[in-house]
Amino acid sequence: MTLVITEQERIKFVDRYTKAGREGKLIKCPHCGDSWRAYHFSWTAVLCRHCVDGNETWVDKNQWIIAE
Ligand SMILES: [Zn+2]
Repeated sequence: MTLVITEQERIKFVDRYTKAGREGKLIKCPHCGDSWRAYHFSWTAVLCRHCVDGNETWVDKNQWIIAE
């Protein structure tokens, strides 16, 4: 998946102020585009199991894209 950034739709990244809330927050891997729902953000990096044909990739918190 190719991520296209335009002036109109700025990509929002997770930062230290991001809150999951009661329903969690959908976040998207910047490498493979796969998204999952995070229910808390008390981590600094998360393993993406969908990246590159099953090769596990650590993705730093502030690299995750807020998908909703
Ligand atoms: Zn990934």
